[in-house]
Amino acid sequence: MAKYLMALDQGTTSSRCILFDFNGNIVVSAQKELPNIFPAEGWVEHNPAEIWFTQHLVATQAMDAIGATAEDIAAIGITNQRETTIIWDRKTGKPIYNAVVWQCRRTADYCNSLMAKGLAPMIRSKTGLLIDSYFSATKIKWILDNVAGARERAEAGELMFGTVDCWLIYNLTGGKVHATDCTNAARTMLFNINTMQWDDELLELFDIPKSLMPEVLPSSHVYGYTEESLFGGKIAIAGVAGDQQAALFGQCCFNKGDVKNTYGTGGFMLMNTGDKPIYSENGLVTTVAWSIDGKVSYALEGSAFVCGAAVQWLRDGLGIIENASASYAAAMSVKDTGGVYFVPAFVGLGAPYWDPYARGMMIGLTRGTTKNHIVRAVLEAMAFQTTDIIKVMEKEAGVKLNELSVDGGASANDLLLQTQADLLAIPINRPACIETTALGAANLAGLAVGVFKSTDEIAASRRQGARFAPAIADDLREEKLRNWKKAVERSMGWADNK
Ligand code: ADP
Repeated sequence: MAKYLMALDQGTTSSRCILFDFNGNIVVSAQKELPNIFPAEGWVEHNPAEIWFTQHLVATQAMDAIGATAEDIAAIGITNQRETTIIWDRKTGKPIYNAVVWQCRRTADYCNSLMAKGLAPMIRSKTGLLIDSYFSATKIKWILDNVAGARERAEAGELMFGTVDCWLIYNLTGGKVHATDCTNAARTMLFNINTMQWDDELLELFDIPKSLMPEVLPSSHVYGYTEESLFGGKIAIAGVAGDQQAALFGQCCFNKGDVKNTYGTGGFMLMNTGDKPIYSENGLVTTVAWSIDGKVSYALEGSAFVCGAAVQWLRDGLGIIENASASYAAAMSVKDTGGVYFVPAFVGLGAPYWDPYARGMMIGLTRGTTKNHIVRAVLEAMAFQTTDIIKVMEKEAGVKLNELSVDGGASANDLLLQTQADLLAIPINRPACIETTALGAANLAGLAVGVFKSTDEIAASRRQGARFAPAIADDLREEKLRNWKKAVERSMGWADNK
């Protein structure tokens, strides 16, 4: 009898595998770093063979560590860095170019030209996305236009495109299945989230032959089976979702209005908006949350460019803390920030301010300011930014949050989460398992193969870690939010030297 669900978590900096038992407990995990290649300023690539090799390696390592066999594994769930683009030969399975990573800015100028042509409203209404080089469409076009012979081969039907999930499914099934899930498809800028189909007009706009595109399948669905030689037996591949959507599922945000925030290097917030896409006026993106049993759920997504990265800056840039977790004791050693506000606009400001010319700023310094006040102000800034984005989501979706589920590396910081509860005036929930991305992929797979009968059954297995209740007076909260806004305004327009 199978006892485990296997999550393959393919990220930008590492490939990981976690085996969960059917109660959502981590039984074993294995991880291998994935090299990033920087061929030019602003360009980022991976070697696709390394993506596959490292992912297969960690899966076998995890199984070997506990002596698990293919029969012990009920199903595999895949979650992955989104948007990263790979094109390979249909016959040989060999990539024709490196994977072009989501962060890669090589198509930024082309994206600007699309915006200048006034295409943003059309693209947004079909895909829910802003025109940006993050998304796969312009990366595919770049490969077809720049790799010798690629366009001719694409037109002759000899090539296949896939995001990282699709590349892994293709390799896991020994080249038998060329499919992706709808959450990953929704990040290509080629997928119409209303019709849930590849969009012919967009394929034409980007000059991409349809024969390149994978079949789009639900997030909880049996995609195929692993080639026997890989794990000594066949295992069903039964759950697939992009990393942020998998985290939303892993947090059991199954109902309209449920929100999760990931405090990682950047901050990623998703709200389940139910069976209808909501189009943002404030620069949030609209995306598919998942599709299960023919029912599509949508999400609004907002991100903060700099979140835990500001804590890394305290460590590496300023050298005032030894490591990220030391930020907690430093900040707790003072009773408040002493009036200091920090705006982490290192690369400008995103939603809801959208100012590329804003720059990082500290204000309110006095002779009494110490490094610990600064550390505390940096932690508070993460909570202020999250509050700003949540307020936009609430307004646009017309829902009032009654709690927020959190994960990501910095969610280990209790002071950050207490501040978040204080600013939002709602409780913050940190689950016992903060590996929510992997757990979400595993649960999607478990649902498809009958380990779980329903999302209710999954929700019942969720174990609460810690809960933070709001603990400050309304007038203090308002004063803090007012001062934060004032600080943000002063950081804006700084780098605009015109
Ligand atoms: P990612 O997956 O985006 O690489 P993680 O979810 O692993 O990131 O989170 C890492 C980030 O969290 C780092 O930027 C780090 O500075 C921050 N971080 C980790 N632990 C803490 C902590 N205890 N307090 C505050 N920040 C932390």
